[in-house]
Amino acid sequence: MKRKLSNQFLRNFLVIFFLTILDTILAFVLLSLASGLISGSLAKNRYPASAIIKEDYNQIDASAVVQSGGGVQVVDKEYRVVYSRGLDTIGKDKLTIEEFTTFLTESKSRPCHYDILYQPSGGFWLIVTFPTSIRLDFSLVHNKEAASGDFMRAGLVIAFVVLVYLLILALFTFIYSRITAASITVPLKKLCDGTRLLREGDYSARVDLRLKNEFAELQNTFNDMAARIEHEISLRKKSEEDRRRLILDISHDLKNPMSSIQGYAELLMNKKGMTGQEYEEYLEIILNNSKRANRLLTELFELSQMDSPEFSLKLVRTDICEYIRQICGELVPQLEREGFKYEFDIIEESVFVLLDTDRFSRIIQNLANNAMRYNPKGTMIAVSLTVQNNQVVIDFSDDGIGIPAHLVDNIFKPFVRVDGSRNSKTGGSGLGLSIAKKIAEAHGGDLTLCLNENKGSTFRITIPKI
Ligand code: ADP
Repeated sequence: MKRKLSNQFLRNFLVIFFLTILDTILAFVLLSLASGLISGSLAKNRYPASAIIKEDYNQIDASAVVQSGGGVQVVDKEYRVVYSRGLDTIGKDKLTIEEFTTFLTESKSRPCHYDILYQPSGGFWLIVTFPTSIRLDFSLVHNKEAASGDFMRAGLVIAFVVLVYLLILALFTFIYSRITAASITVPLKKLCDGTRLLREGDYSARVDLRLKNEFAELQNTFNDMAARIEHEISLRKKSEEDRRRLILDISHDLKNPMSSIQGYAELLMNKKGMTGQEYEEYLEIILNNSKRANRLLTELFELSQMDSPEFSLKLVRTDICEYIRQICGELVPQLEREGFKYEFDIIEESVFVLLDTDRFSRIIQNLANNAMRYNPKGTMIAVSLTVQNNQVVIDFSDDGIGIPAHLVDNIFKPFVRVDGSRNSKTGGSGLGLSIAKKIAEAHGGDLTLCLNENKGSTFRITIPKI
């Protein structure tokens, strides 16, 4: 690609090169044409020396020349200025022969136009002077009477100069075309390299062009795109990892109750001479294990339901203070029965939120069950409700055994339990907090675990106020 673009640039610049030569020739032609067109109107051409010369210089009428800003001088054979009107560039009354010769030879290089005519009968030179407006001295003089060797030599020099000029111009064209092409191809190459790395799976690839033009915009877009892809890929990897872990955890958690049910059912069928007590004992184990498997499957179903696109809440405008007060009231008999202390601190005013009351009560129920299940009797369970920055904040805390700090972020993941044992005697599935967090999020809020410096744990539910 680089070569193609560079060659394209070279071709374009060669076209410009030839156009420049054509343009230069055209400029000279136009200049001589324009000069021919205006020559009739220039004062120096209206009053040439031949038009005003007389045999007797005293008869010369210089008034028109002087009025047009020019001057007339007459120099006799003794090189004396015997007549002078208007502009005088000689500046002396008497010249030496050297001075007069110098004046004649240098007249071409002065900023004046001189028309000098010799009057043989009067024996004097008539000099008509006009200040030059602008003069471009460029002329190609050719005389056929010159020696042919001279002509050859001069022609060769001119041809050499023209050739060198054209070569230098061509070289500059080439260099300039390469430099211009490089300003495009170098950033393009870097962008292509970055894209190739991305295609090959290196999502950390970024491009740094150190430019401030449109390429910089392209670079930023590329880098943003690469960053997004990298993020998406890491999310996909993580979700793949989560899915794999979930399947492993489900099969692990289901395996125990299912094998237990199978084992005891076989025992019931095959064991001869069982006592009534043994019979009941085995049936109870089968019932408990099937309850456990059933609970696990129900919660799994609930969790996957919430991830499905069809999942929606039945939101109703609700006074959350009143609602939480009512739930806490319903919790009291259970807390007292189980031997837990309690404390509720809910603000008196009415605060309205959009709530799916059935689903939301699941959060509180889960937090309350956990607090009672994992903490010893006598633990203080506290619920408080405040409003902070347009958010309703419900803190559900206990001063029990607490949750280790390293699990603060992971505790809401499915199947994460503090004891790590899949067969813990509590029978918890490790799905309760995952479901509760998803419900809070579906309400536009969140469920988080606050790091407790003191004893116990504090779960914080937030929900936006309306
Ligand atoms: P489970 O069905 O196991 O209760 P959860 O997701 O509700 O699942 O809870 C995850 C784990 O968090 C529990 O297994 C328990 O170890 C820990 N946990 C939850 N709440 C508390 C609490 N109030 N005090 C101590 N540990 C808790």
